[in-house]
Amino acid sequence: MIKSVLNNNSFSKQDIKELLLSDKSDTALLFEKSFNQKKTHKGNKVYLRGLIELSNICSKNCYYCGIRRDNKRVSRYTISDKEVIEAARFAYNYNFGSVVIQSGEVQNEQNSKKIENLIKEIKKLSDGKLGITLSCGEQSEDTCKRWFDAGAHRYLLRIETSNHSLYKKLHPNDDMHSWEKRVKSIESLKKVGYLTGTGVMIGLPYQTIDDLADDLLFMKKKDIDMCGMGPYVEHFDTPLFNEKNSLLPVNRRFELSLKMIAILRLIKKDINIASTTALETIRETGRIDAISVGANIIMPNITPVSYQKKYRLYENKPLVNKGIEKLLLKFDKQLNPLGEEIAYGEWGDVR
Ligand code: SF4
Repeated sequence: MIKSVLNNNSFSKQDIKELLLSDKSDTALLFEKSFNQKKTHKGNKVYLRGLIELSNICSKNCYYCGIRRDNKRVSRYTISDKEVIEAARFAYNYNFGSVVIQSGEVQNEQNSKKIENLIKEIKKLSDGKLGITLSCGEQSEDTCKRWFDAGAHRYLLRIETSNHSLYKKLHPNDDMHSWEKRVKSIESLKKVGYLTGTGVMIGLPYQTIDDLADDLLFMKKKDIDMCGMGPYVEHFDTPLFNEKNSLLPVNRRFELSLKMIAILRLIKKDINIASTTALETIRETGRIDAISVGANIIMPNITPVSYQKKYRLYENKPLVNKGIEKLLLKFDKQLNPLGEEIAYGEWGDVR
């Protein structure tokens, strides 16, 4: 039965649900197929994006997030321009194809200008070679355009859930946290010209298999170019932590996340899919496990370690302090048996 679903070229909601609920042996078939699709459409390469966590200051108050505005126990920081440039130079020297600038959501001219200048500087220091992805929340079309014109060419804005009413349970019910606005922002990023990505959390309280199937159909409908999704990992200092007892066990959240990645690879064959750190929080091999089912992007954290500790969206986030050579060597060793290799100095974009 699952074989006929896997041989389909278009996937109905029912097909997706069946794949999400597949048993162990059927799941093995799904993973085999998705990994083959990854190899066919993206080759045997895994692309590097060096992650720079620019600032943990955020104007929003999402109920699941450790750095939400009202969490007074977070020590707030913004990395100096000099340190960002150093981190980008580090990525360039290690032959990373790209960097990702990620931060909480701040909408003001000072922040827009800072990021615009950083983009220009990073382009300059790398002779235009470092690709730049932004993940800085919802911004006006004008700001997005300025950053695009400065040289950033990818933008990740996670919808977190495609279910409008579930979104309302995860966010304050106000204009600042509007699902409709977020969808419009994703559309506006595409209009500006960015390679646009989105993503969801998997294993949220109140979330159903129907919701997850709809999430994948949402990504298909929006014709995204990239995706970053992973398991919901609770943070004790957030309102959503109160729902802890209603959560799926972490291993189930992990398994569902791998299935979501695998099915997305079947639906959107040539997009870039990130293997997210949240997977590693649950299982040490999490990021490689995601590659083995169809993900093709790894984002080593190159933020100075003293700041990494303060950028805790969820608990138990692994810190990178072992040195990047060791980390890349480790990835290399883990990727080898899969017949995969790190693509140095390449962007690996859809177009
Ligand atoms: S999830 Fe993003 S927008 Fe929401 S509070 Fe956290 S950093 Fe801010």
